[in-house]
Amino acid sequence: MRNFIAPRWKSIVKKTGLHTNNLLPCGKCGSKRLYFFDDPLCPTCDKLTIIPTTDALAIINHFINTYRKTFLEEVRDFKKNELLSLVFWEREKIIRQFYTNYTPIDQQGLATCNLLLKRVIRMNDFLETRSISNRNSVVEAYRTIVLLELNLEQVEVGNRVVLRTIQYDLNKLRDLSIGDIVYFETEEYQKIKKIMEKFNVMPEEKAKKKMDAWRLKLEPIIPGSKKSNNASETLTRFFETISMWYTGLFSNKLYRSAFGLSRMEEITINHFH
Ligand SMILES: [Zn+2]
Repeated sequence: MRNFIAPRWKSIVKKTGLHTNNLLPCGKCGSKRLYFFDDPLCPTCDKLTIIPTTDALAIINHFINTYRKTFLEEVRDFKKNELLSLVFWEREKIIRQFYTNYTPIDQQGLATCNLLLKRVIRMNDFLETRSISNRNSVVEAYRTIVLLELNLEQVEVGNRVVLRTIQYDLNKLRDLSIGDIVYFETEEYQKIKKIMEKFNVMPEEKAKKKMDAWRLKLEPIIPGSKKSNNASETLTRFFETISMWYTGLFSNKLYRSAFGLSRMEEITINHFH
């Protein structure tokens, strides 16, 4: 699973002076290209049929609702406190991984835990009839739902499209299987991903490679930590870290809500010199 934060990052596009209007169309026919796992394809020359956005949203929503219903029915049997502590512990483990092994931080995992905590805390109809038997599967199952929600948002904002792999009937969505949904990324989104990589937000495999190299020359994380800094010194010293978190946490609506940042979209960071 690609552990990547999916953005529609207009403000950062503007701030960094990078813009997305110099896209390369297909050399043969001039169509806008699409990407499947970073491989470029031409919808015309490669004869790809894209599902209309409204249909794609209906299909993804169908799966979100189905999975969510199954998930909630399953966890309702559990003890609420046991479930909450399990999710808190999963979140803790993600961060401890970073501190103990200096590995990339699974932001999607953090977002999944946060969203699950928020939703579980609001639920009041637990039956509390049994203990959680398969402890590993709870957060993993919810991750699938969060991933679908992210894809829904991406299709909504036009970062991704859905390929027509089979005939479908919007009135018979039950006939579809999740494997029938194949996403393609737009070229604009490919550009956004490259910008995000500059801020160290990237797919898991790439992040691992980067940190494997960094780990070899690991130095104290907070240089000069005995000295107190004013606001501008702090920002300068931690600019790379701050902009990484900013890029990662604000990268889409779902994450903003997961990390409690929904009302903070107007924050701006200026690099002090
Ligand atoms: Zn073409």
